[in-house]
Amino acid sequence: MQTEDAAALSAPVMKLVRHELKRRTLTVTAHQYLTPHMIRITLSGDDLADFPSLAPDDHIKIFVPAGEDATAMRDYTPRSFTRETGQLVLDFAVHEAGPATRWAINARPGDTLDIGGPRGSRIVTGDIPHWLLIGDETALPAIGRRLEEARETDRFTVFITVPGREDEQTFNTPASVDLTWVHGPVNDPDRDALLMDSLFQADIPPGTFIWVAAEGSLTREIRRYLLEDRHHSNLWVKASGYWVRGEAEASVKFD
Ligand SMILES: Cc1cc2nc3c(=O)[nH]c(=O)nc-3n(C[C@H](O)[C@H](O)[C@H](O)COP(=O)(O)OP(=O)(O)OC[C@H]3O[C@@H](n4cnc5c(N)ncnc54)[C@H](O)[C@@H]3O)c2cc1C
Repeated sequence: MQTEDAAALSAPVMKLVRHELKRRTLTVTAHQYLTPHMIRITLSGDDLADFPSLAPDDHIKIFVPAGEDATAMRDYTPRSFTRETGQLVLDFAVHEAGPATRWAINARPGDTLDIGGPRGSRIVTGDIPHWLLIGDETALPAIGRRLEEARETDRFTVFITVPGREDEQTFNTPASVDLTWVHGPVNDPDRDALLMDSLFQADIPPGTFIWVAAEGSLTREIRRYLLEDRHHSNLWVKASGYWVRGEAEASVKFD
């Protein structure tokens, strides 16, 4: 597509489909380390009969124990939901602290997990010649799902940060994907700098829909760079801070 043609494209529309808010009690049916820093948990249960999940970056709340008589709520992405088998899969990035991570490490088949939502699904619609996906390990479930649900004609450039080579994943997608893995410990500023360096080299033509999800301050910097330095239209960017360094149960939304 010529640049002028791409620039003339209408901005994508985020279609919000609301869902009835429900709390569901599910049973763990499988627990595995997908990679050294990612636990995959499969859940099933009759409550999933009417579970809705229309968008790759949908999220649910999980309710997990947090000390004596206390419950914590955390956000997770339905990595996949298969209605025929009634199986919901969640992927948990393993980091040092936090009740959700602790729950995932210790979960075993037969345990139960209460979930709430998704409250709604934001579906990106419109003519999108090119996608740019940027994220860390917490964004891997949404990125993996976006790639696996893509069409053969879709084109993606993807940058993902993970601790090491052994944390890379493979995605079964018909789309054309140019994927760069950036390695480094999760809280290492060098890793953030390496990601920014990769982004500085990236070709971002008009008509690129950019999706970003990572730690809050890094996401803010990526978004600032895209809007102010690369003059990319805000209408073509969706950025979210999926967690905030040093704060429990924190996320950041950008307009
Ligand atoms: C819409 C949305 C979807 C998400 N989907 C997923 C998903 O599918 N899989 C997934 O793994 N995460 C996902 N997250 C991120 C997840 O909700 C947070 O990482 C959450 O804080 C983890 O809860 P916790 O109880 O383990 O830690 P918390 O109690 O929330 O935090 C304890 C400490 O750990 C730090 N911390 C939190 N998360 C991380 C991290 N990833 N790495 C390093 N330090 C961290 C905090 O800064 C805090 O200091 C999503 C977040 C959002 C907003």
